[in-house]
Amino acid sequence: MTYDYDLFVIGAGSGGIATARRAAEYGARVGIAESDRLGGTCVNRGCVPKKLMVFASHFPALFEEARGYGWSEVQSSLDWEMMITRVNHEVDRLNGIYQRMLDNSKVEVFRTRAKFIDAHTIDLGEKQVTADKVLIAVGGKPYLPHILGIEHAITSDEIFHLKPQPKRIAILGGGYIGCEFACILNGLGVEVTQVIRGDRILRGFDDDIRTEIQQGMINHGINIVKGVQLIAIEKSDQGVTVSLGMGDTVDTVVADAVSLAAVGRKPNTQNLGLEHTGVKCRDGAVLVDEYSQTAEPNIYAVGDCTNKVNLTPVAINEGRAFADTVFGGMPRTMSYENIPTAVFTNPEAATVGLTETEAKDKFGEDMKVFYTRFRPMYYTLAEKDEKTMMKVIVQNSTDKVVGVHMVGPNAAEIIQGIAIAVKTGATKANFDATVGIHPSAAEEFVTLRHPVR
Ligand code: NDP
Repeated sequence: MTYDYDLFVIGAGSGGIATARRAAEYGARVGIAESDRLGGTCVNRGCVPKKLMVFASHFPALFEEARGYGWSEVQSSLDWEMMITRVNHEVDRLNGIYQRMLDNSKVEVFRTRAKFIDAHTIDLGEKQVTADKVLIAVGGKPYLPHILGIEHAITSDEIFHLKPQPKRIAILGGGYIGCEFACILNGLGVEVTQVIRGDRILRGFDDDIRTEIQQGMINHGINIVKGVQLIAIEKSDQGVTVSLGMGDTVDTVVADAVSLAAVGRKPNTQNLGLEHTGVKCRDGAVLVDEYSQTAEPNIYAVGDCTNKVNLTPVAINEGRAFADTVFGGMPRTMSYENIPTAVFTNPEAATVGLTETEAKDKFGEDMKVFYTRFRPMYYTLAEKDEKTMMKVIVQNSTDKVVGVHMVGPNAAEIIQGIAIAVKTGATKANFDATVGIHPSAAEEFVTLRHPVR
């Protein structure tokens, strides 16, 4: 049987585009469908505009710190609408680049929703196409909890278009998105109350990191309300009122016009016609094997729609591994070990490898922890009590570094380099034998001598 395409990709986000281009490089005839803007969550509603807003949010502190270095006071104010417009212009520019990249790779782009008719046939609205292999790369979308008045909350999808600037905002959730936006908005001058149901933000991260970031956020003026259940959101004359349950009592948080619901994301697999295929899902996530293959042998899935590790570089890596395997004749799987990740909070944090708790579960007593916490040199003249925290976890018997965690300026940039060492199996002795770059904060990673535990 001949098909219109060797590969048809549903979803032109980070994973879908990378896969389409890699498969086309191998000579495959590739089509891709996208009903929204090219680039998916990362480019349009996630990493890229978020990081630009992180940069924007740092300026007030920089202006303040400059005074410690002899600069005169900076009188500056934020034009919120201009910031939002400029961030979105950059997103437009990237959309254009993606279109050109796909055109240059001879990938045929369909700006429409795609739906399975059967395992090899895709409905594109005005026409149907057939493909030998199909890749599902439809990503995820914000999940909204079932509470009264949730329609008065926005999600991270809408925040990049929010006008005018809110004065007070309530952020629901203590994960990556909730914490990053709490810090961005706080830096941009918004009064932020962040509501979490546990006692600490960023569940799943190393406990020392969680404590350090949370304390840093509180020091910067974010009001974190802990141990509460969301009950309802109501519109009021003052804006919105979020009711929170605390044991037998109910408390309220009043925000300007909006609250940001950041309580997790769900795979975007509804209305895809998956029921016409043999693809199996669990809680909406497409089930795949280590080669990203679904229960329907010609259909594969990568990225957030599989709900494995919901990070852009993971989706890209999964997609390229699939293309190399199926179209490049080089079978390989994605390695999920030692995936570095960062949280662009203020203070920033980054991590690779096992948390202390995970290491303890895995190695028992056969491990040690190196830890340091200090004021980085930059803050001495700036006269700020900002701290950097570093933590290295080592397996005793092999001397292997199994986890590295950092909170402090440039943590993402520093941990990216450290991650190469951890991924390649570096030992603590290798760290110790490395000459530090002086003066830098990062050199502390190669001068840690005495374990604290
Ligand atoms: P997360 O899964 O990271 O966090 C969800 C948060 O919402 C948790 O604090 C959770 O609390 C809380 N929560 C869940 N349900 C409820 C509820 N019913 N009531 C109150 N609180 C609730 O989700 P995010 O939306 O923050 O991020 C989604 C994914 O996006 C991340 O997992 C990450 O992979 C990716 N991402 C990565 C970024 C990066 O790499 N820098 C940046 C942004 C997103 P609890 O801890 O108690 O369960």
